[in-house]
Amino acid sequence: MTEETIAPHGGQLVDLLLKGAEAERTLAEAEHLPKVNIGARELSDLEMMAVGALSPLTGFMGEKDHRSVLETMHLSNGLPWTIPVTLSLDQDEAKRIGGASSVALESHGHVVAVLDVTEVYRRDKEEEAQSVFRTTDTAHPGVRALHEAGEFVAAGPVRGVSLPRHTTFKEYRLAPAETRAAFAERGWRTVVGFQTRNPVHRAHEYLQKCALEIVDGLLLHPLVGATKEDDVPAEVRMQCYEILFDNYYPADRAMISVFPAAMRYAGPKEAIWHAIARKNYGCTHFIVGRDHAGVGTYYGTYDAQKIFDEFDADELDITPLFFEHSFFCKRCDAMASPKTCPHTDDDRVILSGTKVREMLRAGKKPPKEFSRPEVAQILIEAMADRTR
Ligand SMILES: [Zn+2]
Repeated sequence: MTEETIAPHGGQLVDLLLKGAEAERTLAEAEHLPKVNIGARELSDLEMMAVGALSPLTGFMGEKDHRSVLETMHLSNGLPWTIPVTLSLDQDEAKRIGGASSVALESHGHVVAVLDVTEVYRRDKEEEAQSVFRTTDTAHPGVRALHEAGEFVAAGPVRGVSLPRHTTFKEYRLAPAETRAAFAERGWRTVVGFQTRNPVHRAHEYLQKCALEIVDGLLLHPLVGATKEDDVPAEVRMQCYEILFDNYYPADRAMISVFPAAMRYAGPKEAIWHAIARKNYGCTHFIVGRDHAGVGTYYGTYDAQKIFDEFDADELDITPLFFEHSFFCKRCDAMASPKTCPHTDDDRVILSGTKVREMLRAGKKPPKEFSRPEVAQILIEAMADRTR
């Protein structure tokens, strides 16, 4: 038996996907059940649950856990958890499923799972927004998504029948059991996970490589579930990661796999949730930079790092690695951060996101100290395609 890097959250990796005859039986049963059509966000939560990325969750949260998460950042059994995982229903759906003990969850006309309903309850959206997003402002994309969701929540254990039929990034869609096996195969005992929803420029490459200096392996784990419309599309980002890996990363010490989660933009609370999920994928360490999972100016720059102090190290188990923003400094003649470079911004290659987008749109590559030229080229072409 191979040595595991770290135990999953709660001790056991959850697998909700039925196989063979059992799956067929459940599919036949589903034909006679009330149907609930689920959207992209809930589908991605379901997929994450089914493959164990949200261990120890085995279904959509009941009111007791939901409340406990909002009020204490722990499940009712005492395990840390910061983001509710719920299945929302609008009033009509809630009425339609009535007292059904099970419902079939459908996506694009296919039954993906059966939910054995233990309760249906009404959620307090204002309270949930304030707790999870620390704001009730509907301009916040997470708050907006919450308000667009139904008023009611159906809870209960899930029996997975089939996963979403992905056509993209197939070779990169490793479930937690598979990343764990890949780490073991490579002999990695310690692995750092890096979450991203952006192309990787030199600054983030630097953080990843600083972390890689102290652990055995790096898992670049880009989120490919739903994001904001103005984020760079996942297909383009994947090309950037691939070319970066081909040219600048050691093949035996770094790997790419995708994270099927949808973004919440919940800043600090999402940083904890991201760390817990990466622990389930087998990461022993997790990089938390400035403004992790943030959006706009809703969160303080270091809030996503400070929130880790609110947990005991042994209840999270995965070790967060906190980083400052980094840059190329011309006088240091190296990548550096305010922790390691004594110079001023005059000597540092610093470009705002807006400035970089402007340059790329104009077909201009940012300086090579900011972005690898191969990555810049892909982004320039993608921008040109979009304009056409
Ligand atoms: Zn310097």
